Amino acid sequence: MKIICIGRNYVEHIHELQNAIPEDPVVFMKPPSALLVGDKPFYYPDFTQDLHYEGEIVLKVCKNGRHVQPEFAHEYYNEIAFGIDFTARDIQAKCKAKGLPWEIAKGFDGSAVLSDFVSIDQVPDIKAIEFELHKNGQAVQKGNSSMVLFNFEAIIVYVSKFFKLQMGDMIYTGTPAGVGPVQIGDKLEGFITLKGGGKQFLTCEVK
Ligand code: MG
Repeated sequence: MKIICIGRNYVEHIHELQNAIPEDPVVFMKPPSALLVGDKPFYYPDFTQDLHYEGEIVLKVCKNGRHVQPEFAHEYYNEIAFGIDFTARDIQAKCKAKGLPWEIAKGFDGSAVLSDFVSIDQVPDIKAIEFELHKNGQAVQKGNSSMVLFNFEAIIVYVSKFFKLQMGDMIYTGTPAGVGPVQIGDKLEGFITLKGGGKQFLTCEVK
């Protein structure tokens, strides 16, 4: 199982971190040991002083494939979840400044928080999925998947040129504006809006 992540996919988030608009999707990975499921608490790592949340929609790959063509890309995922791509922003900034890979800032244990998956049939509009992240009861991120540079199909086409997609792989599809720091004691709650006003929830307490 791979955890594939897309960076810099929402324009307002690119601007808030003062990054350039990418020509192709920015791809990185987290190892399976990064996964944190079941609303378990997240333990603030001692190697960072600037841990950020990034609320994201996560796809679950349901079919093996490489070099997926655009017209078939929609067949490669059938479930979504709410995820948090925890990022050690201070370490990432150091890596970026030196032109080095980000792995230690992005792929550490527990950095890929994930809700249960729900069928894409449960969302009102697969091309405009609404999701929010709240910190201590306050909305800090409000996203809509229609606002991306690279939609789910474009991501699948691009990623599968380099990495064989395998059933069970997960794809974090990028975060909207509003990322920010968390402290020990904070409670994060994310959700995706479902048909009929239901919500697919994630809860994560930082300890
Ligand atoms: Mg992210």
